[in-house]
Amino acid sequence: MTLSVPRVLAFVLFSSLGATAALAASYDGQTNRYTLTISDDAKIASVEANLWLTGDYLSLFAVQQLPTLKNGQADLIENMQITAANGKSLKWKNEGEGEFKTAGDQRVTVSYQVKLEHDNYHWDAGIEEVAYHTDEGFMTIGQTLLLASGEKMEGPIEIDVKLPAGWQAHTPWQRLGDSNRFAVPNRRELLNNALFFGTAQAETLHAGGIDLTLVLGKRFQKAKPLFTELLSKQLQSYQQLFGADPQSKRYLVIVNEGLDDGGAYSNSFSQLISEDATDANRVIWGYIMAHELLHFWNGLSLTPVDSREEWFKEGVTDYLTTMTLARNGVDSQEQLFRRLENIPRRYLFARLGQQQQLPVRAAGEEKQKHRQLVYGGGAITALALDIELRKASNDKVTLADLMRSLFTEFGQPGKRYELADVKRHIKTLTGTDLTAFFNKAVESEGMFDFAPYYLEFGLDFDNFYYDEVYVRLDANATEQQKARFNSSFGKP
Ligand SMILES: [Zn+2]
Repeated sequence: MTLSVPRVLAFVLFSSLGATAALAASYDGQTNRYTLTISDDAKIASVEANLWLTGDYLSLFAVQQLPTLKNGQADLIENMQITAANGKSLKWKNEGEGEFKTAGDQRVTVSYQVKLEHDNYHWDAGIEEVAYHTDEGFMTIGQTLLLASGEKMEGPIEIDVKLPAGWQAHTPWQRLGDSNRFAVPNRRELLNNALFFGTAQAETLHAGGIDLTLVLGKRFQKAKPLFTELLSKQLQSYQQLFGADPQSKRYLVIVNEGLDDGGAYSNSFSQLISEDATDANRVIWGYIMAHELLHFWNGLSLTPVDSREEWFKEGVTDYLTTMTLARNGVDSQEQLFRRLENIPRRYLFARLGQQQQLPVRAAGEEKQKHRQLVYGGGAITALALDIELRKASNDKVTLADLMRSLFTEFGQPGKRYELADVKRHIKTLTGTDLTAFFNKAVESEGMFDFAPYYLEFGLDFDNFYYDEVYVRLDANATEQQKARFNSSFGKP
């Protein structure tokens, strides 16, 4: 459940007195064209890309280094050739970790093949964030197969996908005509998206201001009504919560069988579910799906400056997912209480079990290692913040109001927020400075005392160490506290 962001390459330009450095040639105004061919046995992907290379690097982004694949996904590339526009072959050097150096600032054609053997390796973030085969085809993230101009990519992009007979291409890109040719607005949407090629059935639904295509592996076909019900209800809730559509209007969701996990991309997400999807086990797969969907607003439209606000991206998403699943009746009240126990259990486990004493904001830098602190610490802060906002406004302002306010300013292309912006919006909405609250919740190394916030929701919280955690309705809750609970989670 991570968001993949291409690494930023730093470049330094040198010039010296007396000698005038040759100016780099500038972009030629042509479309960048890719052809991606999947072999009939789906063991090889052949790529030919004609693109303007800004700087000297062709890059494979978001490689995950493994003990057995030193350069991660890039080690599955072979037979690479680069030629200049005049047909001359260009020298290149593999500098490792997906960086290939050649003579840039010109139009080049690069061709190579990728061995589709990603299923054979263990990837930390999960195979659903890399590439895998099913009986019905092949899922890949764009960046697993496609090299791009490393520094930046200028101009429009088109990609032609050639597939084995009978296969269809499911992508979140705009299809050009009836063919498998697609227009892609930028490098991010080319690389940072999940794609499915094959015979699996797909269905498009319209909800929450977007068109969503659902590709379901055959094991999950019979549960299609469960998926569409969940997706429709949650999308509508998120649209109301944020008061706006997400930035992108077209999404692709791919569900197949595998270890339960999911990854959210620019206009798509990739999910694996370990058994038949039922009403009963929706408690896991439905939660992952609802969480990843919410990232289309909080995470992909509303984007933090850096990893220090991972807690806001993941924790607020977890809290709002919990809230809306209960309000929509997807979760029973009993299930809601289990979730309200899991949130602090994660945080207590990080602090007391794993002895992670770093501040919640600092934990975002190594998100997988500090997963409990980022998600649990983030969600407990979101719950407490929901109360702080109510206390500061005679219950007029809630976390949903804050999210709407932030979305208005930051839910725009290129805009990014950080904690100071969150505080500024709170000040505008309530007149209150919550710096002291955030210092305790996300900037200190100590234990954040969150139990009083449960009481303010009319809930009793008890724990023994980190492994026993109980939440129940407080018999002595005031009318105000009960009203707060109802307003966030629906009537008990
Ligand atoms: Zn997430």
